Amino acid sequence: MATELADLLRQHDVQVTVQRIAVLRAVSGQPHITADGVAEVVRAELGVISKQAVYDALGILVERRLVRRIQPAGSPARYENRVGDNHHHLVCRSCHHMVDVDCAVGFAPCLSPSESMGYKIDEAEVIYWGHCSKCLAEASKTKSSEISPQRTKSDRRGSPPKTSANSRILNPVHEP
Ligand SMILES: [Zn+2]
Ligand SMILES: [Zn+2]
Ligand SMILES: [Zn+2]
Repeated sequence: MATELADLLRQHDVQVTVQRIAVLRAVSGQPHITADGVAEVVRAELGVISKQAVYDALGILVERRLVRRIQPAGSPARYENRVGDNHHHLVCRSCHHMVDVDCAVGFAPCLSPSESMGYKIDEAEVIYWGHCSKCLAEASKTKSSEISPQRTKSDRRGSPPKTSANSRILNPVHEP
C-alpha cells in the first residue's frame, strides 16, 4: 500500500515523503476527515508530526488534486480522496454527519445560473442540508417520552406557597 501511495504521489508530481504518504493514507482510510483527525492518525503511525506539516501535506495534495477539500458552513475543512467525480454532500444540521451522494449529472458544472454574467463557469458547489435519519428517529423518540414527566415537574413548581408575609407586603396601604 505504501508503494502504491508513493506511486500515486509521483504520478501527480508530488515529491514522496513519509509524512505525505501517511497523510494520504489517513485521508484514504477515513473519508471527510478533518486536519485534526489526520494529525491524530498520522501521529499514531509515525509518532510525531507537527500540525503545520499536516496542513502543508494536505495543501499540496489538494493542489495536485489527489485530495478534495470540502468546507461546509460552521464546520472545519474536511478532506477525502474521492476526487474527480463531482459528487456532492449531505450534511446533518444536528450531528454534522456528512455523507456522499452522487451527482445526478456526473460532471461539473452540474447547475447553471440564470445568467452567467460573462463568467466561464466550471463548477457549482452543492451541499444538501437537512437532518439525518438517526437524528430524526431520536427527535421523535424524545418528543413522545418527555411529555408526561415534564408536566408533573412544572405543576409542582406552578403556584408559590401563600404566606402571611406576602399578604402584608401586598396590602401595606390598608394598615393604619
Ligand atoms: Zn444527524
Ligand atoms: Zn465526499
Ligand atoms: Zn451535481
